[in-house]
Amino acid sequence: MKVVILGSGVVGLTSAWYLSQAGFEVTVIDRQARSAEETSFANAGQISYGYSSPWAAPGIPAKAIKWLFEEHAPLKIKPSLSPELIQWASQMLVNCQLEKYRVNKSRMLTIANRSRECLAELNRNYDLNYQGRTKGTLQIFRNPAQLKAVEKDIALLEESGTKYQLMNPAQCLVQEPGLANMQGNLVGGLYLPDDETGDCQLFCQQLQQMAEQAGVTFLFNTTVDKLNSENNQVVSVETSQGTIHADSYVIALGSYSKHLLAPLGIDIPVYPVKGYSLTLPVIDQQHAPNSTIMDETYKVAVTRFEQRIRVAGTAELAGFDPALPDKRLATLNHVVSNLFPQGVDLAQAEYWTGFRPMTPDGTPIIGQTKFSNLYTNTGHGTLGWTMACGSADILTRIIASQGQQSFNELSVERYS
Ligand SMILES: Cc1cc2nc3c(=O)[nH]c(=O)nc-3n(C[C@H](O)[C@H](O)[C@H](O)COP(=O)(O)OP(=O)(O)OC[C@H]3O[C@@H](n4cnc5c(N)ncnc54)[C@H](O)[C@@H]3O)c2cc1C
Repeated sequence: MKVVILGSGVVGLTSAWYLSQAGFEVTVIDRQARSAEETSFANAGQISYGYSSPWAAPGIPAKAIKWLFEEHAPLKIKPSLSPELIQWASQMLVNCQLEKYRVNKSRMLTIANRSRECLAELNRNYDLNYQGRTKGTLQIFRNPAQLKAVEKDIALLEESGTKYQLMNPAQCLVQEPGLANMQGNLVGGLYLPDDETGDCQLFCQQLQQMAEQAGVTFLFNTTVDKLNSENNQVVSVETSQGTIHADSYVIALGSYSKHLLAPLGIDIPVYPVKGYSLTLPVIDQQHAPNSTIMDETYKVAVTRFEQRIRVAGTAELAGFDPALPDKRLATLNHVVSNLFPQGVDLAQAEYWTGFRPMTPDGTPIIGQTKFSNLYTNTGHGTLGWTMACGSADILTRIIASQGQQSFNELSVERYS
């Protein structure tokens, strides 16, 4: 059976891998010259199973108002609000209710935990080197309110069997000695020992090679323009290189998935939440991070790859604007200079921006649509690298079972 996957970011690529391993004949189409050139290019590098949480959480609406007036706030909103953004933000507000947060987080944890098993198996069976580490995530708190707020997550971590350790400031410094500069400024931390780190783009480059060797066909430099349907089936996809036919089609176009589905009458609430990163070399081993540090105050992650550090964060609601304004980059500069002043040299920083394909409930949209041979694997928002392998495995089970396994709570059906 022939499956065409639209998009070769980390989500499309892992989908291609798992579907080809299950015996499908897979073709991947992407407008770029190789995999992971858009949002999967320079993300924070957290493979953070334990940290998998929706951004829509109790307390966020009040915080969002406060952030509007802060210089280094994690959230920025461009003054011109589009109807699309207003609709998405209203749905997000609804998802801030505690009960909805609990459901959404537990769905994300389920996918993330499946991802952990899948990535571990890939690493056991193949010689992948994506500068990965298995040293956990340390979420650091600078005030008692942050420590208190984490209590709502502890019960869910326990329910899902996710290992964690609440740390006092001294334990945080033992875990991450490079944070010595923060002595006296931390009130504690949440350590998630099973979390991993790694360069998503390096992973994708290697997985692309493995997929090619396994028989997957990649059509790069090919733009997807339109899906054609008849009755309740998609019959072809129109691209800049001509019309392509398959038995099934998977939409994995990240933030651009919405536009391709809209003409078919499928409305997925995926908004491009812009984020920024910087990558810079380690100049002093003693004063650099070991793994990922998540600074809760700024919601900025700092991750170690071999001799580099990646710093990433900011959620900007501004549509598809690729600009790199100095005032946004200043927040990342501020956090890394505050945490690791001796470990980095900002003069060598490389800056990047990407659009997180974000759903209002934080959970990706995986599964069948109202067209029986059209599937989505998109909307991974802040944690697409973390959830990619598990999502691809779930999608493969859905397609292989021909409707027997539905995972309806993950599909677009949950919004109807
Ligand atoms: C600043 C930042 C930090 C992040 N940090 C983390 C992190 O630490 N951990 C984590 O797990 N996640 C993180 N994420 C999120 C993660 O990067 C995304 O969820 C993930 O990359 C989404 O992958 P994707 O394959 O869905 O989308 P993409 O990587 O964007 O892939 C979509 C593909 O579709 C192609 N495409 C789009 N439109 C067309 C078209 N019309 N025709 C042909 N091709 C098309 C694009 O070229 C692209 O290759 C971060 C994101 C940002 C922005």
